Amino acid sequence: MTRRYLILMGAPGAGKGTQAARLAQEWELCRISTGDLLRAAVAAGTSLGQRAEAIMASGDLVSDGLILELVEEELDRESCSRGAVFDGFPRTLEQAIGLGDLLERRGCAVEQVIVIEVPDSEIVRRLSERRVCESCEKLYHLSFDPPGDDGRCTACGGGLRRRPDDEPDTVLRRLEVYREQTQPVIDYYANERGASQTGVATVDGSRSIDEVASDIRERLAVVEAER
Ligand code: AMP
Repeated sequence: MTRRYLILMGAPGAGKGTQAARLAQEWELCRISTGDLLRAAVAAGTSLGQRAEAIMASGDLVSDGLILELVEEELDRESCSRGAVFDGFPRTLEQAIGLGDLLERRGCAVEQVIVIEVPDSEIVRRLSERRVCESCEKLYHLSFDPPGDDGRCTACGGGLRRRPDDEPDTVLRRLEVYREQTQPVIDYYANERGASQTGVATVDGSRSIDEVASDIRERLAVVEAER
């Protein structure tokens, strides 16, 4: 069975996590979110977590070597035996090239890159109202997906807080980092297309979660039909 590897790209707050979780479930793939893996390492106080914490809080990127090690470990898990949806990775050209090497060694390649586009003003608005449950990490948006009347997590009753990297100054830095370091990754996949067989599709992420999901599904159906 050929493993399938999809990449969801987009600025922070574009909705990659939400869409990646849906896709992974529908396609029975694992979701590899480097942001989630790093947050888990920070929460567990591992040496990686200790090194990553301050970098994450500033909005800068953790080193490519550490990220590629994390991803390689995930790729070989049983839960990823059918392939994976990458969320928040690759974020630099080095990571994209490193991922290509990791997959090539396994006889695979990236099949499709989906770019979720959202204007910066909307990103800032979304992230400033984003809250996360301190216990189960469920995400809320104070206007669009609010918690219960008591202001607590509807899933587990935990308290909500703003993620440190959703503070306004850090959001601006994350957008800058996205433009400088991650945008070239999209160009890389678009230009490599002929050689690597990787398709790149852009979707408008400023619509509802369901609309964006069905747009992504349509794009992937085309890919599926061409396989
Ligand atoms: P995210 O939840 O994907 O927005 O990631 C939160 C933070 O974790 C980022 O701002 C980075 O500091 C770090 N991070 C997550 N993924 C990566 C990656 N692929 N490369 C480098 N740093 C990352």
